Amino acid sequence: MRRLGFTSIRLKLVLIFMGILIGSCQLAFTFAINFYFDKVIKDMETQLMTESGLIKQLAEKTNLEAEEIIRLSRTSFYQTDAYYRVQDIPVTLDAKQLKLLQTGQSIYVSTQRENREIRATLFRLREQYVLLTPHVGAYFDPVAQMMVNTIINCAIIGAVLILIAVRQIMKPLKKLTEATREVAQGKFTVQVPYKGRDEVALLAQYFNRMVQELKHIEYLRKDFVSSVSHEFKTPISSIHGFAQLIQAESLPRDKFLEYTGVIIEETERLTKLSSNILKLSRVENQTMITQRSSFALDEQIRKTILLLEKEWQQKELDFELELPKTIYLGDEELIQQIWINLISNAIKFSGYGSCISIRLTSLEQSVRISIEDEGSGIPEPVRERIFEAFFQAEGSHAREGNGLGLAIVKRVTELCRGSITVQSVEGEGTTFTVVLPWLESELNMEVMNTHKGHESLPG
Ligand code: ADP
Repeated sequence: MRRLGFTSIRLKLVLIFMGILIGSCQLAFTFAINFYFDKVIKDMETQLMTESGLIKQLAEKTNLEAEEIIRLSRTSFYQTDAYYRVQDIPVTLDAKQLKLLQTGQSIYVSTQRENREIRATLFRLREQYVLLTPHVGAYFDPVAQMMVNTIINCAIIGAVLILIAVRQIMKPLKKLTEATREVAQGKFTVQVPYKGRDEVALLAQYFNRMVQELKHIEYLRKDFVSSVSHEFKTPISSIHGFAQLIQAESLPRDKFLEYTGVIIEETERLTKLSSNILKLSRVENQTMITQRSSFALDEQIRKTILLLEKEWQQKELDFELELPKTIYLGDEELIQQIWINLISNAIKFSGYGSCISIRLTSLEQSVRISIEDEGSGIPEPVRERIFEAFFQAEGSHAREGNGLGLAIVKRVTELCRGSITVQSVEGEGTTFTVVLPWLESELNMEVMNTHKGHESLPG
């Protein structure tokens, strides 16, 4: 009952098909009748005139009685009536017509039949007047019957064919419905097989892709939760352990300072972690850039380097800068996150006394910034994964960080409709290249490229 209920698409399609078929046949029928009726009637009149001529010839060439001739010439297509007196004929005749009749000619007269005014043929046959009136029905009934039969046959054959066709069309949709139900229950392994390139196949193809994406998101979500818990667990248990040590013993001053120092360090790490998680969550949930302002991109990068002065001075790093004056329209705060994370990574992974080069190049459609260090490099197999949240290559765990920096950078470049790529040689160094497109309104803005050339940051 549910399968062929009133809501079933199959039943709906069959009913729609039958409705269209019957409706269009009826329309075609009415159209044909209106356009061809007059033509058929005219043909009938000509035919009757010929018929009357034949009857008259028969009378002339044979000795048959008038009644016999009339009887012989009767057909189902017209009615033959014979009258002895003019006044008995059920039509009105004028003098001219009477005269023609008396001279033996056949004439057309108007008479009523089947609620229509039609023309009959009247002529004199020996002593009688013969009126030949066409049976309109005899002409039209077989045609009408044939059309009705055609409609019924078409409807039956069509309904069966459409049922088969709809069944074929519905098959993949049914599979898709079943698969959607499974996905709704959290089963992300389901895939719908499809053939061809029609709309339903395309739908199945996108459905499969969507399920794979959902599976990936689900995996990332689970992975994210376990990574967050793991990242929080380590400093918390460290704080817990050192706090217990402080509480249990009467510690000498130097130990007390050491333990409280660790606790402060761990809390700072936790603060940084939660702030990075918040940042990532904010940019992950953001779908477009809403805060736009024009700012000097080169200045922003210089300020970021100064902000990280403590870190690079400890390692006595050198900077090689190629930062021509460049005005950019975008979210200043978000974009600064890119430089903070990339430059602090470059510092973090650089060796003592090495150099970091930062180059800004204005292109026609975009601005390109590359940050190059001479640090440890990123091993080839993990290079693809460095943009994943919480991912840290082997050996990086020991250093300060939580693997969120590049995930934030990646998302921010995506929001700016830009891109980020990485080139790295293990043991030699790493170059991150960020490309940010000029926003439309910015194209008309003058981009000042005055200070081209090398600069050195004051130490
Ligand atoms: P982290 O807080 O660990 O720096 P990121 O997301 O910023 O997290 O970076 C992820 C990982 O990518 C790092 O742990 C490190 O293994 C690698 N990485 C990032 N930048 C560099 C770099 N400049 N040189 C070498 N490895 C890097």
